[in-house]
Amino acid sequence: MSIETLVPQANQSSTPFNKESFDEAVMSTYGRFPIALEKGAGCRLWDTEGKEYLDFVAGIATCTLGHAHPALIEAVTQQIQKIHHVSNLYYIPEQGELARWIVNNSCADRAFFCNSGAEANEAAIKLARKYAHTVLEIDKPIILTANASFHGRTLATITATGQPKYQKNFNPLVPGFHYVRYNDIDALEAAISELDEGDYAVGAILLEPLQGEGGVRPGDIKYFQKLRSICDQTGILLIFDEVQVGMGRTGKMWGYQHLGVEPDVFTSAKGLGGGIPIGAMMAKKFCDVFQPGEHASTFGGNPFACAIALTVCHTLENENILENVHHRGEQLRSGLLHIGAKYSDCIAEVRGWGLINGMELQTDIDLSAIDVVKAAMKEGLLLVPAGTKVVRFVPPLIVTEAQVDEALQIVDKVISTLNN
Ligand SMILES: *Cc1c(COP(=O)(O)O)cnc(C)c1O
Repeated sequence: MSIETLVPQANQSSTPFNKESFDEAVMSTYGRFPIALEKGAGCRLWDTEGKEYLDFVAGIATCTLGHAHPALIEAVTQQIQKIHHVSNLYYIPEQGELARWIVNNSCADRAFFCNSGAEANEAAIKLARKYAHTVLEIDKPIILTANASFHGRTLATITATGQPKYQKNFNPLVPGFHYVRYNDIDALEAAISELDEGDYAVGAILLEPLQGEGGVRPGDIKYFQKLRSICDQTGILLIFDEVQVGMGRTGKMWGYQHLGVEPDVFTSAKGLGGGIPIGAMMAKKFCDVFQPGEHASTFGGNPFACAIALTVCHTLENENILENVHHRGEQLRSGLLHIGAKYSDCIAEVRGWGLINGMELQTDIDLSAIDVVKAAMKEGLLLVPAGTKVVRFVPPLIVTEAQVDEALQIVDKVISTLNN
């Protein structure tokens, strides 16, 4: 692969890193691992000490094409020389092309662009509320979301996120959200009927097709199909958060394609720009109720971000990357299942779609996902937890067969050591 030729150069470490200075000047909102990454090529990363890593985090399911991909380098270089930002006061051809590509490759009719997953979900929440007020005629619309979900860190999206740990100390939260158990149709139907009282009623349901941060939990097909028919009957808007699973991560372009249902609205971000910040909210025409001035973003959909995202889209197509995701995903899962069987007193379950996979540790042992992640990092493999007991595997979508084997060997070694 051509990007492998970048390796020798990238291997030369240079910049000394001052951790103390960093910690003094940067807010400590993150519990960071004590390494600083300074170079990347393909699925490899190097830290400031020159240590090499195999990257199975991809900037948290974001670097679709890995690091220093020739197509990204080309697109960034070309676009910055041409035009990078003008605001949405004017037409932006790159934005139109990206919207057209997503529309042609999904169930949606229209796009709104912003800069992150949380912002895309904010846009969806605003759209859903306006739709509830103006079309469903609900005075006090409620949005149902799931326990253990994750939708972002803004005030509305931590409220939508059904995990108290993200909400603690940030109350009062945004009104109008209610939580139900994921994959539980009885709980959902009960909530819809209980919440229909006076001015209140459920106006929208916001769910991940597969819960990412909540522990890599795939949606249940029967649940989602029943959900779709409930929404069809009631007019309740069905919104999918595709921020982590969309853009080919699962081996299909969108997570909803695994469930045999189409959402009315969906959001995308992480993988869309391959590491360049961009978010999108997509909607079918019937529920596009926004009018000029009702929602906006200064940076949203600028020529730079859109040109890069469009390059990610075209590269996914041209290099047949979804097929790679499918095969590498099967390889990774079957390898992890093998490891799971070998250390069954340590590993409870392996699950996922394509290249988003979780390895859940047994609850009755004193081993957390973070312990596995730290041990793997020492061995040169980057992994990320999804909750306390699930180790998540989300490599770049261009990961090779040999790299998956290499990762599996390290995981086997790490589990075997920790298990003793
Ligand atoms: C990461 C994530 C978000 C938030 O995206 P940001 O870009 O961090 O705002 C929202 N929803 C899901 C499912 C995510 O995985």
